Amino acid sequence: MSVQSLCLEPDPFLRAEARPVDTFDGGVRRLARDLIDTMYAHDGIGLAAPQIGQDLAVFVANPSQQMGKELVLVNPVITACRGHASVTEGCLSLPKVWHKVGRASHVSMTGRDPSGREISIEADGLLAIVLQHEFDHLQGRLFIDRLSWFGRRRAKRLAAAACPATG
Ligand code: ZN
Repeated sequence: MSVQSLCLEPDPFLRAEARPVDTFDGGVRRLARDLIDTMYAHDGIGLAAPQIGQDLAVFVANPSQQMGKELVLVNPVITACRGHASVTEGCLSLPKVWHKVGRASHVSMTGRDPSGREISIEADGLLAIVLQHEFDHLQGRLFIDRLSWFGRRRAKRLAAAACPATG
């Protein structure tokens, strides 16, 4: 088990675009393992590599929180999205901040698994939301960026109160 420490907003690392993985070796599998372990250690349902200080396009998702059901996606691409859903989201990089976010209700994604095999996913429900949330992390975007100006201001105040030591 290798639980990594989390990058918290306003860590500039969370704002950088992740690099695509071009070598599928043990390093990617180790990173996937670290993401899964860290996600469970913090009771999360998804985690992206930039949140543990790795600038690679890799994330994990597991809305069911059932061990062994984790989805690991490397170099993901959203190929289609439709519908609308508004779900209250939180983020391990923004402790104590929760807000409703408007997103697509269905997404199609392609990518690779940690061994380099191509995978494609059709998702709806909570999985569709988690996939979009984690995909955003790889673009350097946080869910608060999708809120109105007022919502964003409130969220940033809450985040600042939750981690007074950052700066
Ligand atoms: Zn997040």
